Amino acid sequence: MLPVRRFRISLASIVAALVFPAPFACAEDASVLRAGVAAVDITPKDFPVNMPGGFGPNMAEKAHDALHARALVLDDGKTKLAIVIVDNLGVAREAIDEAKLLASRKCDLLPERMLVSSTHTHSAPPSNVIDGPKEAVAYRKILVAGIAEAIIRAHSDLRPAAIGAATHPLPDEVFNRRWFLKPDKMPLNPFGGKDLVKMNPGTSPDVLLQAAGSTDPDVSVLSVQDAKSRKPLAIYANYSLHYVGGIPKAMASADYFGEFARLMPTRIGAKADGSDGFVAMLSNGTSGDINNIPFNVTPPRPPREPFEQIRIVAGKTADAAWHARNKIPAHKSDVSLGMIQREITLRLRKPTAEQLERAKAIVGITDEAERAKLPPLAEPYAQRAIALSKADETLRVPLQAIRIGDIAICAIPFETFVETGLDLKRRSPFPRSIIVGIANGYNGYLPTPEQHKLGGYETWLGTNKVQEDTSVIITNNLLEMLAELAKQK
Ligand SMILES: [Zn+2]
Repeated sequence: MLPVRRFRISLASIVAALVFPAPFACAEDASVLRAGVAAVDITPKDFPVNMPGGFGPNMAEKAHDALHARALVLDDGKTKLAIVIVDNLGVAREAIDEAKLLASRKCDLLPERMLVSSTHTHSAPPSNVIDGPKEAVAYRKILVAGIAEAIIRAHSDLRPAAIGAATHPLPDEVFNRRWFLKPDKMPLNPFGGKDLVKMNPGTSPDVLLQAAGSTDPDVSVLSVQDAKSRKPLAIYANYSLHYVGGIPKAMASADYFGEFARLMPTRIGAKADGSDGFVAMLSNGTSGDINNIPFNVTPPRPPREPFEQIRIVAGKTADAAWHARNKIPAHKSDVSLGMIQREITLRLRKPTAEQLERAKAIVGITDEAERAKLPPLAEPYAQRAIALSKADETLRVPLQAIRIGDIAICAIPFETFVETGLDLKRRSPFPRSIIVGIANGYNGYLPTPEQHKLGGYETWLGTNKVQEDTSVIITNNLLEMLAELAKQK
C-alpha cells in the first residue's frame, strides 16, 4: 500500500516532476529493471582513409563489412547507465567525452554513467583526427555522432527487462603471444638490447621455449530479455582476445567482433537482420598479451583465406555465448544498479638522458647504409622516446565499476594484460565480474610489473607510456570501487 500522503501534491513536486520527468515516472517501479538497446552504423563514407594499428599506413579503399556503435542502456529507477561498444582500434578519450556530452544533452543520462569501450579491430579509421586528411576529419564526426546516437536511441527504447549472466570457456582461440625463446634466438629490440621474451615469435619449434603468461578462456555473457514477452533484447559478451585479423589490406572491417554480432541473433532465436531490435555485442576483455596465433599447437592450423579465421572464431565465440546463456537459471527483473567513476593520475614514463641522446642520434641519421644497420623499429621508437620527453609529466585516466545485481563490470582505458583481468576476477567481491579493456579512452599497453621485467614489445617505452606499477594502482582502485558497490547492494 502506498502512504496516504501521496495525494498531497505540492507546487514543488509538480515543478520537480516537470523538470525531472523520468526518475519520477519510474519511482514506483524502483526495483524493476528497464533496458534499451540500439546499433548505429558508423561505417566510413569517405575513402581512402588510414586505418591505424600497424607501423605503416594502411589506407582503406572500401569497407568489407559495416562498423557499428552498439549501446545497452539499463535503468533500475534510481541509477541509469549506458554500456557502449564501438568498432574501432581505440577511440580517444577526447572523442568519447564529446559523444557522452552530446548524448547527455539529449537524454536523462550523466556522462559518468556511460561506459564506452572499443573492440580493437585493426581495420577501422582513426578516432580523433581534428586537423588532417579530410576523410579522417569527416570520420571523427561520424564516430562521435554515432556513439551519441546509439546511447540516445537505446535510452528511448527503455522497457521492462530481465537480465542474467554466465560464462562458458572457449580456451582454444586464445594464445599468450609473449614467449621465452631458445638460447641465442632473441633478436635485438629497437633500443639495441635484448628482451627476455618476444611478442609473436612465430611457430617454429626450433625457436619457441614457453609462453611467458597465461590466458583467460572464458566468454562472459550478459543476457537481457524483454520482461513481458521474454524475447531476447541484447547479448553483451566479453572475451579476452586481441582481435583475429586475416583481412586484406585497404579494407575496413569490424573483424570477428562484427561477425559475432551478425551471428548471435540466429543462435538465440532473434531475427538475423536485426528487425526485431535485438542487438548482440562483443567487448574486448583483457587481451594485451593474447592473440589468435596458435604458436605451439599440434597439428598446426591450416592456411586460411581472407576473413575465414574471423568467421571461425566468431562462430565459436557465438556458440560459447549461447552455451553461457543457456546456463543462466533465470533472468531477473529485481536487480539494482550501481556505478562509480574515479579519475586517477599516473606518471608518464620518460626516456633517460642516455635513451634520449640515442633517440636523437637515430632520427638524425641520413645515410641509408647507416640506417640499415639499426635494429628493427629503431626509428619509430626513437621518435616515440623524443615525443614522450616533450609530453606532460602525468596522465589522468578514468576507471569505472558497474554493479548489475550480483554482476560486476570493470572498465580500464588500456590494452590490459590478461594477468590483471584474471587477478581482478579472482579478487572481486562479486560472484561474476566482467573486465572490459580499451574503455573510455586509449592509452597504450598495460603490462603488469612482473611482465615489465621480461621486456618485449608491449613494455617498450612508447608502446607503454605510464609508470610500470600502473596495473597495480588500477587493480587496487577497482577493488576499492567494487567493495563500495558491493556495500551499496
Ligand atoms: Zn593492440
